[in-house]
Amino acid sequence: MSWFADLEQGPPIEVFALMKQFADDDFPQKVNLGAGAYRTDEGKPWVLPVVRTAEKALANDETLNKEYLPILGFEAFSTLSTRMLLGDDSPALKENRAFGVQCLSGTGSLRVGAEFLATKLGKTVFYYSKPTWENHRLVFLSAGFKEAREYRYWDAQKRGLDIAGFLQDLKDAPEGAVIILHACAHNPTGCDPTREQWAQIASVIKEKKLFAFFDSAYQGFASGDLDRDAWTVRYFVQEGFELFCAQSYAKNFGLYNERTGNLSVVLKSPKEIPAVKSQITLIVRGMYSNPPSHGARIVNHVLSNNELFDQWRSNIKTMSSRIIDMRKRLREELERLGAPGTWNHITEQIGMFSYTGLNAEQSQHMVKMHHVYMLSSGRISMCGLTHSNVEYVAKSIKETLT
Ligand code: PMP
Repeated sequence: MSWFADLEQGPPIEVFALMKQFADDDFPQKVNLGAGAYRTDEGKPWVLPVVRTAEKALANDETLNKEYLPILGFEAFSTLSTRMLLGDDSPALKENRAFGVQCLSGTGSLRVGAEFLATKLGKTVFYYSKPTWENHRLVFLSAGFKEAREYRYWDAQKRGLDIAGFLQDLKDAPEGAVIILHACAHNPTGCDPTREQWAQIASVIKEKKLFAFFDSAYQGFASGDLDRDAWTVRYFVQEGFELFCAQSYAKNFGLYNERTGNLSVVLKSPKEIPAVKSQITLIVRGMYSNPPSHGARIVNHVLSNNELFDQWRSNIKTMSSRIIDMRKRLREELERLGAPGTWNHITEQIGMFSYTGLNAEQSQHMVKMHHVYMLSSGRISMCGLTHSNVEYVAKSIKETLT
């Protein structure tokens, strides 16, 4: 008799299952629009040149060793990360009421923050956008939250934000509920609120005493400008909110598998910092004890050196410009071919992903019949498009819709 005999098979994680299917497909023109990772115009993964430079410098630095980092990670890295998010003139930094904790990429930062809120502050209800990144729900429930709720976000009819529904759902939320907000480049829709809409959102969050937990997985990657992509978080800080923000260096540094991230914490006053830090320390100690150093050292090396920082910004521009170019190309092709429907949303959306408007059946048809791999929600990663495959993808979309 096995202890495991009655265990039910869990459901596959869609995006990873799709990637495996893609790898096993030997169709020559197959296209991978599922993976959320940057690719060059040759369809190749890209290690940022500035990361190569930093890695060489680190490899030659004999003073570095492999001993444990502190439980809350590499402090110089966290400090620079929080500064990059909040901006040099942030009131929270000037008043010493913000700090960072190095965590395992964006996911780990969300998880540590969520577990703190659930187990130390007794929070039970969280809200995520409908739709959202598929992992938010699992991360927060695994962290101890009891109830997952959605707020309206995407209006499929107008292919844009349902701001009225969004605000109404926040108004109906119970006091103290945690609201997950995408700092920029909403995944999967590529559709962000305008600044005026963010002001409305902030005012309901304030009035209803909700807690804002930002997810910042794309700073710099969305617009190509680090400050512009951090505007929303900075606005909330200026408005006096206490908040958490999970930062990921997967996309903007291309450090996907190094699991490099930071949980930025902004409080009302410095008085609360020691207690909050001590409780987060216990959470991390019981979860993975301390984080790995390699990615954090790379980011620290770049953020602390003006010349490398400029190089990094130019690497980010390369990535964001290619994505913006691919949006234009895809829209042009779809319009040129006369694919049914309107395609302005493709260029109006921002960030790595686009919500095409294809439904589940149509998306599956794209995979089965055309070997164009995309999620059943109709989400495509713009990074998988290249000058050589964009026409094929547009033709496939047209065939699917006609
Ligand atoms: N949040 C969002 C919205 C994301 O798109 C991602 C990456 N797909 C993450 C968080 C976390 O990614 P990672 O853990 O690799 O940093």
